[in-house]
Parts: sequence; structure tokens; C-alpha cells
Amino acid sequence: MVVVMKQDAGEAEIEAVCEKVRAVGGEAFVSRGTVHTVIGLVGDTERFEAIPFGQLPGVDHVIRIGKPYKMVSADLHPSPSTVKVGPAVIGRETFTLIAGPCAVESYEQALTATQAAKRAGATILRGDVFKPRTSPYSFQGLGEQGLEILDACRRETGLPIVVEVVDVSHVQHVAEVADCIRVGTRNAQNFELLKECGLARKPVMLKRGLAMTVDEWLQAAEYVAQRGNADVILCERGIRTFEPSTRNTLDLAGMAVAQRESHLPVIVDPSHAVGKRALVGPMALAAVAAGADAVMIDVHPDPEHALCDGPQALVPDEVVALGERLAAVARAVGRELASEAEPGAR
Ligand code: PEP
Ligand code: MN
Repeated sequence: MVVVMKQDAGEAEIEAVCEKVRAVGGEAFVSRGTVHTVIGLVGDTERFEAIPFGQLPGVDHVIRIGKPYKMVSADLHPSPSTVKVGPAVIGRETFTLIAGPCAVESYEQALTATQAAKRAGATILRGDVFKPRTSPYSFQGLGEQGLEILDACRRETGLPIVVEVVDVSHVQHVAEVADCIRVGTRNAQNFELLKECGLARKPVMLKRGLAMTVDEWLQAAEYVAQRGNADVILCERGIRTFEPSTRNTLDLAGMAVAQRESHLPVIVDPSHAVGKRALVGPMALAAVAAGADAVMIDVHPDPEHALCDGPQALVPDEVVALGERLAAVARAVGRELASEAEPGAR
């Protein structure tokens, strides 16, 4: 059960609802959205039925959602929500390009990739400083120094940054520096990490786990939303299947299912899905045509010498050319380009 508060409900009214829920042995999770505050109830539904929510001051309405995810369910918000990442937006009416290096390696490498991303029409920069690598002998990221480099790239170009977090202990610090934090595939069901991200005051991009169903992915997103952070962006990045010719199998149908089942923006990372440069463009274009709210592309000025994921990285001229084609497809399917939208219009 979810209690939706009136737009002008005050803190005392929100607390009074939580108090009633606790008085019957339940737990109340408050999630403050841009328009409404919603309170998710956990416990014995029969006991909640006895609470006269409709008569409590500040309560707008109550929704009964019979799914294991409630705060992120389309039943809660029949109209899709928009998430702001710094000055940029990701939502169902716009198309947003996110691009940048898989891993930050140096200031020169990151800045060249960032400038290419911007020329391609990207309004958000991706770049990682903690890399969850399959092998412990692979490059693990620059850590704090990498965050400083990303901050410098942001100052240089104005692009907000999205950065992966891999450990509970650094979520709050990364969230102070980054405009959006990301939970990667390998941590998509690390529930303690998800809960900590739910306490962060920045949007959270949640990648789909390698072997996660859409339903499990939405339940993982619920962990973040339930702790109070309603600004979640889902990212389809390919799943493990029997097919070895691409790194993973891009599940565009899964993206479309997530868009129907949830009000959250859903984006696609074709780079990590296919793992091969030549296939990134075709899958990015397909994602936009299928309705992805954004695509996220790896860029590297010198992929041959990249410390991480070189074979899938586009070089600057390639991402710029792809950006033009993505914009054309986005317009053809009725999307406004986020790069051309009025900043702060949504
Ligand atoms: C990444 O985007 O660099 C990354 C590590 O992705 P994933 O978690 O999807 O493997
Ligand atoms: Mn990568």
C-alpha cells in the first residue's frame, strides 16, 4: 500500500501518517518526489486497512499495488517521470545522449573524450573511477584522482557527470561530487549498496544485472526508491545468453517492458551490450527507434591503448557522426533532443 500526500502536505502531516503506520506495527518509507511525497507501507495490509487515511490531514489518496515493487511501479504514476541530472534531463518526451570514457585514465584522455561527447550532442558525461573488473589484475580505476579529473572536465565543458559506485563506504562521497551515481551490472542486486544509494541526494542510474529478469531489476530499483530516493534511471546493458558473438545480448524488449511496468526513465547502453565497436552504432539507433529515453556510449581517443573496454569504444569522430544519426532517428520518432531543450524546462 502506498499513501500519496497532497502537494502542499507539510512535514508534520507526513510524520502523523508514519506514526499511525508504526502504531499498528508497520514500517513507513517516505519518498520525496518533485511533485508529491509518497509513503510506502511495509507490514500487515489488513492492519493498514483499519487506518482512516482519507481523513488524515495532507493525505491525497491511497493506492493498493499488488506487485513486489510499488514506488517504481507505473501503477503509482501512470505518467512517466523525468529525472534531472544536473542541468540535463532524462524522460519519455526527450532523447538524451550520454557519452564518455569507460574509465578515466588521465586528464588528457578524459577531456578529449568529453569534448567529443559534447560535440556529438551529449548532455551528460559518463566516466568511471572505480572499475569492477572481472580479473583482479585488470586496471581498477583512478579513485579519488579520477573524480578530480571528472570534476575538471565538467568545469571545462559544463556537462554533468555520472559515476559508478561499487562500495557502500564511498556512496555519500561520490554523490557529493557526481551529478548522478550509477550501480553497475555486477552490483545490481547488492541490496546494501542499493539502500545506501537510496539515502543519497543525487539520482541513481541502475544497470540491469547480467542474469536479472525485468521483474528483479524493478525490485532492485524499489530498494533505492523505498529509502527515499525517487530519482532512479534504469539502464539496459545486455544480458547473458547462450549467444557468444556479442559480449551480451541486448534486450530491447526488456527495455520496453520496463517502460510499461515502471514510471522510471529507461535507457540503453549499447557499448557494454555488444562489446564491439562496429555494432555499437546499429544497436544505439535501434534503441532510440524502440523508444529508449537515452543511450550511453563509450568514447576513447585511442581505443587500441585503452585500459578498459577499448574494443567497444568509439573514437571522437565516430561518436560525433553517430550523434547526428541518433538525433535524426530521435526526431523521426517524435522526441525532442535534450541538447536542444530549454535547460530547466522540465
Ligand atoms: C560501465 O558502464 O563501464 C560498466 C562497467 O558497465 P556494466 O556495469 O554494465 O558492466
Ligand atoms: Mn566498461
